[in-house]
Amino acid sequence: MNEFVERRVRLTWRDPKPSYDVVIIGGGGHGLSIAYHLAKRHGITDVAVLERGYIGSGNSGRNTTVIRANYGIPESIRFYQRSLELYQRLEEETGRWLMHTEKGLIWMVHSEAGVRGEKRRALLNTAAGAETVFLTPDEIAELVPQIDLTGGGNGYPVLGASYHPKAATARHDRVVWALAEGAMDAGATILQRTTVTGLTLDGDRVVGVETDRGRFSAGVVVSAVGGFASEIAAMAGLRLPIVTHPLQAYVTNHYEQSFPFIIGSVEIPFYLSQTPRGEILIGAEYERAPGYSWGTSFDLLASCSAKAVAYLPFLARLRILRQWAGVCDISPDASPIMGFTPVQNLLVTTGWGTWGFKAIPAAGEQMAELIATWRTPELIAPFSYDRFERDRLMADAGSAGTH
Ligand SMILES: Cc1cc2nc3c(=O)[nH]c(=O)nc-3n(C[C@H](O)[C@H](O)[C@H](O)COP(=O)(O)OP(=O)(O)OC[C@H]3O[C@@H](n4cnc5c(N)ncnc54)[C@H](O)[C@@H]3O)c2cc1C
Repeated sequence: MNEFVERRVRLTWRDPKPSYDVVIIGGGGHGLSIAYHLAKRHGITDVAVLERGYIGSGNSGRNTTVIRANYGIPESIRFYQRSLELYQRLEEETGRWLMHTEKGLIWMVHSEAGVRGEKRRALLNTAAGAETVFLTPDEIAELVPQIDLTGGGNGYPVLGASYHPKAATARHDRVVWALAEGAMDAGATILQRTTVTGLTLDGDRVVGVETDRGRFSAGVVVSAVGGFASEIAAMAGLRLPIVTHPLQAYVTNHYEQSFPFIIGSVEIPFYLSQTPRGEILIGAEYERAPGYSWGTSFDLLASCSAKAVAYLPFLARLRILRQWAGVCDISPDASPIMGFTPVQNLLVTTGWGTWGFKAIPAAGEQMAELIATWRTPELIAPFSYDRFERDRLMADAGSAGTH
C-alpha cells in the first residue's frame, strides 16, 4: 500500500481489540471478500482480517487477472459463472473503477482429442450457463489477424478453439483495495504486519489466534492464506490435501496495436492478454516441483516465450520488462476447498491454485453466507473438505489453463 493509494482509497484503520466474532487470517482477495460480504450482506462487522504483510501482497497482487467461467464440470461452471457475474457489477457495487474489461477468451487446441475436448467444453458450458462456442481455424484468424495457425511449423497447428466471450480482466490490486475499503467502511478491522503464529485450541475447538502482536480470541477463525494454507492448518494438527507450487508470469513492453482478446493454448500451456498500458502479460504452467519460492527463472521465460511466439510472431519484437512469481495452493482434484474442517470453528478457503482471482467475489459471498447462517450454501457444497473421504472429487485439472 503506497501513499498514492492511501490518498485515493478511504481505508479506515482501527486499533486492535482483544476479541472478535470472526478472525480472518490473510488479507488477500479471498479474506477481504469474506470480510466485505459479511459486512455488506449480513451486517457482521466484529471482524478482523490479519495480514502478515500488506493487503494484496500475496497472489492477489501477483496474478494475470483472468476472469472466466469455462470450466469442465457443472459444479465449477456454476460457481465461476456466479463469480464472473459478480465481477461484472463489482464496480457499480463498490463505486470504484476496477478496470474490468470484457475481452473474450480463445483457448486453442492442436490435436483431434483437443478438438473433441473443446467442443465438449463449449456444449457443457453453454448448457450450464457460461456461454462458450467452438471456433474453426478460419474463425480464429478472423478474430486474431496476428495469429500464425501453423505454429511456425512446430508440428502443432491450430485445429480450433473454444471461445468464451464473457471472459474478462480486472486490475487485481484495485479489486483488493475496493473490497478492503468497503469492509473497513462498514466497520471491519484490518491489521497489516500481523503474522499468525499459532491457533488457540480448547479441545477440538479453535478459540483464537496467536500473533506477533499478541493473542486474539475469536468465535470463528477463517484461514484464507493462499499458498500458506498447510502452515495454518498444521497449527491445529490438521493436514490439508494441498501442495504448494510456485507460478511465474511476466510482462513485455508496449505493443503498439490493440490486442483485445485473452488467448492461450490448452495443450501447449501458455496464455496472454494486453494490459491497459499496452503491455502483453504472459503466463504459463506452475512449477512441477513443490516449493514456496518467489524466485523467477530464465527457463520459464525461454520455454513460455517459444510457445507464445510460435503462434503470435509479433511477440518476438517485444522486450520482457518484468517477471515475478507467487505460490499456489493446489488440491489433488484442482478444485477449491471451502467451508468447515474437522476442527470446530476453523473454516478454510483454499485450493485456489492458479485460478483463484476469478473466484474472489463468489467465494467471499458464499463463505460469508456460511459464516452468517452456519450452513453450507448449495453453490459451494460440492467443494467441501470432506469430499475427499466421501470419494466425491471435483476433478477438473484440464480447466486450470496452467497445467
Ligand atoms: C503468477 C500468477 C498468475 C495467476 N493468474 C491468475 C489468473 O489469471 N486468474 C485467476 O483467477 N487466478 C490467477 N492466479 C491465482 C490467484 O492469484 C490466487 O488464487 C488468488 O489470488 C488467491 O487469493 P487468496 O486471497 O487466497 O491468497 P493471497 O492473495 O495469496 O492472500 C493470502 C494472504 O495471506 C497472508 N498470510 C499468509 N500467511 C499468513 C500468516 N501466517 N499470518 C497472516 N497472514 C498470512 C499472505 O501474506 C497473503 O497476503 C495467479 C497466481 C499467480 C501466482
